[in-house]
Amino acid sequence: MAEAPKPSGIRAVFDRALQLEAEGREIVHLEIGRPHVGSPEVAVQAARAALASGDVHYTANRGIPSLRAALAERLPYDPATEIVVTTGGSEAVFAAFRGLLQPGDEVLVPTPAWPHYDALARLVGAVPVLVPCRAEDGFAPDPAALAAAVSPRTRMVVVSSPSNPTGAVFGRHTLEQLAALCRDRDLVALSDEIYRRFADDHVSIATLDGMRERTVIADSCSKTYAMTGWRVGWIAAPEALMGPIATVHQYVAVCAPSFAQAGAEAAIRHAEPFVAALTAEYAQRRATVRDRLAAAPGIELPAADGAFYAFPRISGAGPGFAGRLLEERGVAVVPGEVFGPGLEDHVRLSYGVSAAQLDAGLDGLIAAVA
Ligand code: PMP
Repeated sequence: MAEAPKPSGIRAVFDRALQLEAEGREIVHLEIGRPHVGSPEVAVQAARAALASGDVHYTANRGIPSLRAALAERLPYDPATEIVVTTGGSEAVFAAFRGLLQPGDEVLVPTPAWPHYDALARLVGAVPVLVPCRAEDGFAPDPAALAAAVSPRTRMVVVSSPSNPTGAVFGRHTLEQLAALCRDRDLVALSDEIYRRFADDHVSIATLDGMRERTVIADSCSKTYAMTGWRVGWIAAPEALMGPIATVHQYVAVCAPSFAQAGAEAAIRHAEPFVAALTAEYAQRRATVRDRLAAAPGIELPAADGAFYAFPRISGAGPGFAGRLLEERGVAVVPGEVFGPGLEDHVRLSYGVSAAQLDAGLDGLIAAVA
């Protein structure tokens, strides 16, 4: 653990915000990537029924068959051999790294990136290679920069679209270039699709030519169905890649919680209206963020069409800005440097909050910059 990653910078902000709240301050939480609504009632009912009927024991390691069947009705993967239900997307990423990487193997991580890729790669003894994306490109990965970063030890590239923290949705052309890189250099793509529903035109790299056989998809109920605490996610991957990943899952997690899986299945089968409403709400919030920040001097927002994050640049902000915003104005955002090097002038704000909260948070941010 000498090479252990630092504690999460997102959690550090959250913990400080909670501390200020405990002291009686009013805080606007734009720091946590969590939907503001409760989980779908249909999922709650199903989990309750599962508990009441004694569904409280281990399940199959790969997940209850009916949940895998529900996933396989929506994904072109074999529920017996190519789908594994995990304890959230986080375990999905961990199991993929642990199952497919040898110590010393390199993983390309386009940044800004969710910090877990760097941390989880280190935790399995692999080497994260951070490759900056440019704000001018809307934070889409730069295929040439990624190609230049490939070494004989490179095994994997992380494709995270829509992106946390930027909200960038990678276009088909970018994905085609990434796919070509994977095919040419024999790399596996880890396609983190946890925000896929919160974008109008998400394309999975797994669907591109020759990519199904070299892509591992990580997904989860957490964001799509506002079920972050249920800890149910999944991996979809071709059988040849899934073998070692399923073994890691079997020993680390054994299975996702039984009754949570029952709830997850109900959400996947019956909560489409819930997802549609959430998606529409985020589209509205996204427009609010875009309009208000575009009009604010000193703030630049690259195009960001997905997820529920914005990653504006605050000119001259510097490393202490997010801390001052929290202490002085009670608005919690995450400092940009948490998501990669050279991002000190950015902050991530999550607009998965109520309209009133978002307005209050943007008021504080804009006033602080002014
Ligand atoms: N991938 C990304 C990009 C995320 O932002 C998150 C959650 N913040 C996850 C995966 C994992 O979420 P969970 O473990 O709750 O499914």
